Amino acid sequence: MEAKPEKSLNFIHEIIEEDNKTGKHGNIVHTRFPPEPNGYLHIGHAKSICLNFGTAAKYNGLCNLRFDDTNPVKEDVEYVDSIKEDVRWLGFDWEDREFYASDYFETLYNYAVILIKKGNAYVCDLTVEEIGQYRGTVTHAGKESPYRNRSVDENLDMFSRMRSGEFADGTKVLRAKIDMAHPNMLMRDPILYRIIHTEHHRTGNKWCIYPMYDYAHGQCDSIEHITHSICTLEFEVHRPLYDWFIKELEIHAPQQIEFARLNITHTVMSKRKLLELVQENYVKGWDDPRMPTICGLRRRGYTPESLRNFADIIGVAKRDNVIDFALLEHCLREDLNKQALRRLAVLNPLKLVIENYPDELVEELDAVNNPENTETGLRKVPFSKILYIEQEDFMENPPAKFFRLAPGNEVRLKYAYIIKCTEVIKDNNTGEIKEVHCTYDPETRSGMPLSNRKVKSTIHWVSAKHALEAEVRLYEQLFTKENPEATEEGKDFKDNINPNSLQIKTCFIEPSLSESKSGEKYQFERIGYFCVDPDSDKGKPVFNRTVTLRDSYKIVK
Ligand code: ATP
Ligand code: MG
Repeated sequence: MEAKPEKSLNFIHEIIEEDNKTGKHGNIVHTRFPPEPNGYLHIGHAKSICLNFGTAAKYNGLCNLRFDDTNPVKEDVEYVDSIKEDVRWLGFDWEDREFYASDYFETLYNYAVILIKKGNAYVCDLTVEEIGQYRGTVTHAGKESPYRNRSVDENLDMFSRMRSGEFADGTKVLRAKIDMAHPNMLMRDPILYRIIHTEHHRTGNKWCIYPMYDYAHGQCDSIEHITHSICTLEFEVHRPLYDWFIKELEIHAPQQIEFARLNITHTVMSKRKLLELVQENYVKGWDDPRMPTICGLRRRGYTPESLRNFADIIGVAKRDNVIDFALLEHCLREDLNKQALRRLAVLNPLKLVIENYPDELVEELDAVNNPENTETGLRKVPFSKILYIEQEDFMENPPAKFFRLAPGNEVRLKYAYIIKCTEVIKDNNTGEIKEVHCTYDPETRSGMPLSNRKVKSTIHWVSAKHALEAEVRLYEQLFTKENPEATEEGKDFKDNINPNSLQIKTCFIEPSLSESKSGEKYQFERIGYFCVDPDSDKGKPVFNRTVTLRDSYKIVK
């Protein structure tokens, strides 16, 4: 049997294979996905999730889900729950390995005590602003804090009193004692603990001092015996600090590997900015189908398979880059083409009357559910004398290459008959086309002996008296610019919001869709992929347009 060509390894997997050759981590691969529960996950996180869980799976290792919940002011259980739902939905399982940095607060505190005892940390009474001023600049060394040389005993005493709640917020911090002239600014006596008298969503009021992310993150990885700490490039400059802690504490050393964050055109990808869009009502919520959040993409109709495939195709890079949104949509169409059942729907209805069709006759015609998957079989679609077709499929005075319906022209109605346009009825006052009349050829019914008579075009339709009304929500990109963050002086990314990012319409759908349920995905033939919105449950069917059939974004410039 011929071997399937192996995809070449990404640079992270190359490092792991090398480590496995040398036995560096005892041939163990243990990764983690470490979100801060301060917002909903976006597609950049999806990439990190696929990478961390995918890498562990590839090398028979494990991947933890760890919440880096070190900041009680910005975090919430709402975010924890949404993150778990999103990771699960993407198709990954952390089994019993759900951890929280807050589970390690006691250990982290004890580590800080070790650092103090070694003369590696001190309590500083400067305010945060003063600490900033003392830090110096990239070209100038910083100034040492007047509290830097407190004795170990005094530091131990003060740190324990910080913990017991004796001091007000902002009056003291614990800092590492490294080097105020260090070329890496992050090494200039960084803050390890600050006082925050705020209830934590997990530890309640047990603590009033909280570790800084930079102090907690690496130690948490170490506590969990993570072998490969995969993170994004901005943490490269933090690595010397993380390594310093590990060395001074003499604890397990995870190997940090940085990769480039995912950026996508026409979108912003920072929790802070996404929160702004939600709070200032530019969108309807975190799960608005225009949001690049995982819950937004899910509501829009994205599938986990398409996102995993996307993450796989873009691979991992060492340099920052921007991926075209079109690639994401390509992955989506590929998957929906296989999964989505076909249905008939008319978005911009034009009445079509078949003059020679019996007034009361209704035929139940066979329609294919999905030509890509014969197992999905056929369904019945009612056909009758009065139909709706798409306005765009008719032209009274067509140009030479227009093969759809026009006076004297023949087209096939999908799954039905060949028709010929005989008359156009207009409004006497406005001249607007009200209906189109035609005749049908009874010999040409699809599936019948004469059905393969050729005409140049096939159009879709619904039977007027059987069709249901539905709301469709048509989306365009949320931002008009490829890079919404590139703005003139005094403007920000929100000035680049696309005013036409949502258009709501009433359309007609075939009756079989009356039973459709929230989350179901369909291809409306010749129009695009649509997903049933949760709002549907409140009565009238509501569909989100997930993506058009081809790349056809009309962006207002
Ligand atoms: P944001 O900058 O959007 O607020 P964050 O980095 O603060 O995100 P975290 O909760 O810290 O969010 O992220 C959890 C993990 O996801 C981290 O390991 C982070 O490196 C990774 N991650 C975040 N954004 C992206 C991205 N755009 N592409 C790839 N990985 C990302
Ligand atoms: Mg972060």
